[in-house]
Amino acid sequence: MQTFDVIVIGGGMVGAALALALGGGGLRVALVEQQTLKASALSLDDPWQPRVSALNEASVRWFDYLGVWQGMVAQRVCPCTHMTVWDGKGTGQVEFDAQSSSPLGYIVENDVIRNALLHQLADSTVQCFDDQTQLEYRLSGQGGEVVLGSGDTLQAPLLVAADGAQSKLRQLSGIAVSQKDYHHHALVTTVETEFGHQDTARQVFLDSGPLAFLPLSSRHGHHYCSIVWSLLPDEADRIAALDDEAFCAELGCAFEHRAGKILGADRRLRFPLRRCHARQYHRQGVVLVGDAAHTIHPLAGQGVNLGLMDAAVLAQEMIRAMQRGDDWWAAHILDRYQRRRRGENAAMMAAMSGFQHLFGAADPGVRWLRNTGLKLTNKMPLVKALFMEQASGLSGDIPEFIR
Ligand SMILES: Cc1cc2nc3c(=O)[nH]c(=O)nc-3n(C[C@H](O)[C@H](O)[C@H](O)COP(=O)(O)OP(=O)(O)OC[C@H]3O[C@@H](n4cnc5c(N)ncnc54)[C@H](O)[C@@H]3O)c2cc1C
Repeated sequence: MQTFDVIVIGGGMVGAALALALGGGGLRVALVEQQTLKASALSLDDPWQPRVSALNEASVRWFDYLGVWQGMVAQRVCPCTHMTVWDGKGTGQVEFDAQSSSPLGYIVENDVIRNALLHQLADSTVQCFDDQTQLEYRLSGQGGEVVLGSGDTLQAPLLVAADGAQSKLRQLSGIAVSQKDYHHHALVTTVETEFGHQDTARQVFLDSGPLAFLPLSSRHGHHYCSIVWSLLPDEADRIAALDDEAFCAELGCAFEHRAGKILGADRRLRFPLRRCHARQYHRQGVVLVGDAAHTIHPLAGQGVNLGLMDAAVLAQEMIRAMQRGDDWWAAHILDRYQRRRRGENAAMMAAMSGFQHLFGAADPGVRWLRNTGLKLTNKMPLVKALFMEQASGLSGDIPEFIR
């Protein structure tokens, strides 16, 4: 039996960042992952990876604090200095520009983020147990034991569920969730476009759902974007089955040819979209972070940013407790984490649902209202500044190492 201060289940972006922070704060951490945790690095000419994240300023600052941001920059990240959002069924459009020297955010492939985190983990005190596909949990009400496939047992007073939207540990701990099907599937791929993107993220709201083009670095004079196309399931079936030429033609049309012709597309991935929120963030020695606690529509690219902030706040609360000699696994510490994060996450989820309803409405009155709203917003610098502050993740209750 090996004893730790905390066991993190799930070495995705959120779990790996949390393990690194807790290890750096002096806790003995085990990180358990079902896949291989092997760091590699992507060079500029390696093929694009299909999954990307739009990282906000708060996430970038936290990665910098953890010492992993430069490792991402050394691979490849694309700054996003402008954003344009418009209504496909009207004339309303709103544009956001970076106000200072720092961009609005960065588009980074998930593999780049994970590689940088894994490199740093290899140099840390965190003990990683990867390729663990046969885990058995023995929950004691105060943490518990994790039995690995080899039969070895890990024990800690606190288990963290960072094992994603289908979290098995969350289910075993008896934490209930409220959930809703968005009735949308997201098609994700990388495309080559005729025109350069000028570091601009663009999103059009179509009757069928939002379509986003996120900028990727140009290569040898060729221009690339990662796209997230939210579609009703039947429409997603049809579009997923198109051959490449027909897909590119239809995508170009849906995007009003704002990127010129779509010259090529990589393989398409598909994700059913659900909103899910845990009713409580901890129970009997199990605490939830990231997608294990909440999943959200990707239309504002906030999912992993929220998860990273969960991890930052949880790490801060646990490390502070340990430093003052308090029990970092105690319910009152985890209550503080829940108080600081659940409301913030719920507010962002409600805002996303509101956007989704507003832009999904076919009613002419609602359409007029949203087009007028977009046009008015575009003329109000203070309102735009408020939106940007919210999206940067720097408003609200954030740990001081991110401020
Ligand atoms: C189409 C789409 C686009 C998105 N775009 C953005 C964006 O632009 N910006 C943004 O902020 N967010 C975005 N998101 C959301 C973002 O991808 C997620 O919020 C994020 O990946 C969650 O990270 P996580 O580490 O919590 O969970 P995951 O990434 O799901 O990681 C969970 C980890 O746990 C491991 N695991 C699972 N079960 C077990 C087990 N039993 N034992 C051990 N290990 C286990 C998995 O292998 C995985 O490594 C998008 C989501 C979608 C679907």
